[in-house]
Amino acid sequence: MSQRPYAIDVMISAKTIAARIEDLCGEITTEFADTDKLVVVGLLRGSFVFIADLVRELDLPIEVDFLEASSYGDAMESSREVRILKDLRGAIEGRDVLVVEDIVDTGHTLNHVTKLLQSRSPKRLKSIALLDKPSRREVDFRSDWIGFEIPDEFVVGYGIDYAQRNRNLPHIGKVRFLEDGE
Ligand code: 5GP
Ligand code: MG
Ligand code: MG
Repeated sequence: MSQRPYAIDVMISAKTIAARIEDLCGEITTEFADTDKLVVVGLLRGSFVFIADLVRELDLPIEVDFLEASSYGDAMESSREVRILKDLRGAIEGRDVLVVEDIVDTGHTLNHVTKLLQSRSPKRLKSIALLDKPSRREVDFRSDWIGFEIPDEFVVGYGIDYAQRNRNLPHIGKVRFLEDGE
């Protein structure tokens, strides 16, 4: 992991994120209007801020669970091999499930996770990602809801880290490495 100095430029403001979440939650609430209980599954750790804002805008009976899949480690390169580091606490058979991810990049993570959860026979399984980088896709995967499509930039903030830092920024920012003396 490089320790080069970097700056973070705002890409998506906290206000813009909040407005988009309000719209998305209207759609999700409509989609699951008839549910007896929606299991909202956050993918650790990057989705923890997003899921917190999301569930508070959902006008539905919900339960929250978490799953951790390995993809990036502490590097900027994505790995194709997806491993489950922490599985759900609860069973999802016959349940309505919404998987919440921070970013769809190559698509390997959500593709793997949704296939795994589908194999447990949920009643309905949908996914939402805050950010999507379609230009980076390596597998044919499309999330049911997307907050924002972004270009191929490395982003941080709003739960998303660079070497475990910057998760507490209220906005989505783009990492820009500084030249010597800048
Ligand atoms: P995928 O399996 O789709 O390639 O990887 C998705 C995961 O890669 C995301 O959940 C996220 O953890 C990580 N990732 C992708 N792009 C970025 C980025 O710009 N910044 C950070 N910090 N992580 C990213
Ligand atoms: Mg992630
Ligand atoms: Mg990460």
